Amino acid sequence: MGTGRDNLVSRLGTSDRPLRVAIVGAGPAGFYVLQHLFQEQDLRVQADMFDRLPTPFGLVRQGVAPDHQKIKSVVRVYEKLAQDPRYRFFGNIEFGKELSLEDLHERYDQIVFTTGAQTDRKLGIPGEDLEGSYPAAAFVAWYNGHPDYSHLKFDLRGRRAVVIGLGNVAVDVARVLSQTNDELARTDIADYALKELAASTIEEVHLLGRRGPAEAAFTNHEATELGELTETEARACLDSEEVESLMRELDPASDRLARAKLEILLDLAKRREPGKKNRLLIRFLVSPVELQGDDQGHVRKIRLVHNELYHDDEGAVRARPTEKETILRADAVFRSVGYKGAPLPGLPFRDDWGIIPNTQGRVMDPASGETMTGVYVSGWIKRGPTGVIGTNKADARETVECMAVDRMAGRVLKDTDRAGEPIEHLLESRGARYVTYADWLDLDRIELIRGQVAGRPRVKFTSREEFLQVLDALEPPVD
Ligand code: NAP
Repeated sequence: MGTGRDNLVSRLGTSDRPLRVAIVGAGPAGFYVLQHLFQEQDLRVQADMFDRLPTPFGLVRQGVAPDHQKIKSVVRVYEKLAQDPRYRFFGNIEFGKELSLEDLHERYDQIVFTTGAQTDRKLGIPGEDLEGSYPAAAFVAWYNGHPDYSHLKFDLRGRRAVVIGLGNVAVDVARVLSQTNDELARTDIADYALKELAASTIEEVHLLGRRGPAEAAFTNHEATELGELTETEARACLDSEEVESLMRELDPASDRLARAKLEILLDLAKRREPGKKNRLLIRFLVSPVELQGDDQGHVRKIRLVHNELYHDDEGAVRARPTEKETILRADAVFRSVGYKGAPLPGLPFRDDWGIIPNTQGRVMDPASGETMTGVYVSGWIKRGPTGVIGTNKADARETVECMAVDRMAGRVLKDTDRAGEPIEHLLESRGARYVTYADWLDLDRIELIRGQVAGRPRVKFTSREEFLQVLDALEPPVD
C-alpha cells in the first residue's frame, strides 16, 4: 500500500490537488517563472507572487530608463499572465518582515525567489562615500520614482558629473543627466526628478571605462543613442587610427557586434557638433583610485590611474594600472560598477558573488553541499546582475524544469493535503496591508490618466502612503 506522500505525489499538479507555488519578487524573472509554469502541459497550478513594493514589474518600472518606453512595453506579456485566474499578487509584502520562509513552507509545495539584485557594488576606494558621490543604482531608482528612494537628494548644482563604469546603467545615467527638459518631459520619469533635473547646472558628463573601447560593456543601441541627444555633443575620446587598427584585427564574421560597437565609437570620436551646448565624453583605460573632497566633505576631484590591457591565463582582456595618473575635477560622481544581490532571511548567500548559491536554480546549502527541498531561484539573484530582460526567460525555463523533475521525484515541501491557514488571513492577522492585482490595475489606470492630462506616458505615484491613500479613496464606503 502506498504512503500518504506517494498518494500526494501522484495527484500533485492535478485538478484534484493543484500545485501551490510561491514566487517572491514580481519583476521580469518572477513573471517568466510564472509563464513557464503556466505553459507546462497538464499541470494544474496556483501561483501566488509577493513583492515588497505595492506595484508589480520590478526593474521594468523601477530600473529601465524612463525614455526607453519601448523596452517597458514588455509588461504587456506580464499583464496577460497576471489576468490568469491561477495567479494572485500580494504587493507591499516584504519577505523577512511580514512573511517568513516558515510561512511559505506551511502553505506551498514549491517556492521560487526572484528578488533580483537590490544593492550596488562598491568601488572600495578612499573617498567613495563623500557627499556628492552616489551609487548609480540609487539615482536610477530615484528618477524612476521607487518609493524607497523618492526621498533622496542629489546635488546637481555643479558643472561636471562623472559616471564610473561603461555598462548600460552608466549610459542610462549619463543620458538622463544630459537630456533637455523637453526630452525628459516626454517620459514617465518621476515628477520630482523632472523638476530637479530641470534645475541641474551640469554641462559636462564624463563616462569612465577601465578597459578599452572593444571591451565596453554597453550595448550598441545604447551607444548609438548617445549620439542622438539634442543639446549634448557625445564624444568618444579615442584615437581614430587606433580604433581602425582594432577593427582590422577583428574577425568580420564572429566579431560582428564588437565591430559595430567600434564603428559607433569611431563615429563619436570623429564627430564635432559645435552647435550643442553640453558635452558628454566617453573615456577609456582609466580607473578611479581616490575621490577627493573639499573642506565641506563634498567630492571635488577624482584621482585616476591610466591602465593598459593584458590577457589573463583564461584569455580574458583585463586592465592593469600604469604609472600615469590624472586628476579630474568632478562636482558629482555616479558609481555604476554593477548591482549586487542582497541576502534573504533563512536562505544561504554567497556574498562575494551577491547571489543565493544554487545549481540550475535549486538553492544549495554550501555548508552541506545539499540542495534545499522545494526552494528555487531565478533571475539576477540566481546568476548575478547580467543580461537584458529577455535573458531571464531561458533562466526561468531552467529553474522551472528542475521544479518539474523534483516534483515527479516527490521532492516537494508539503507532504500533506492540508493547505494551511490561507495566506491572506495570515497577512491580515499581522496587520499587513497587501495590494492585489486588481488594486494595481486601479493605480495603473489613474497613473495613465494623470499622464494623459500632462501629455506624458504616465505620471507615477512614488510613495507607499500615496498608493495606499489612493486605494483607500477608491474603496466603496462601508454602511
Ligand atoms: P555591467 O554591464 O556589468 O557594467 C558594469 C561596468 O562597471 C563595466 O563597465 C565594468 O567594467 C565596470 N566596473 C566594474 N567594476 C569596476 C571597477 N572596480 N572600476 C571601474 N569600473 C568597474 O552592469 P550594469 O551597467 O549595472 O548593468 C547590469 C545589467 O543590466 C547588464 O547586463 C546590462 O546590460 C543590463 N541593462 C540593460 C539595459 C538595456 O538593455 N537598455 C539598461 C540597463 C541595464 P568591465 O567591463 O571592465 O568589468
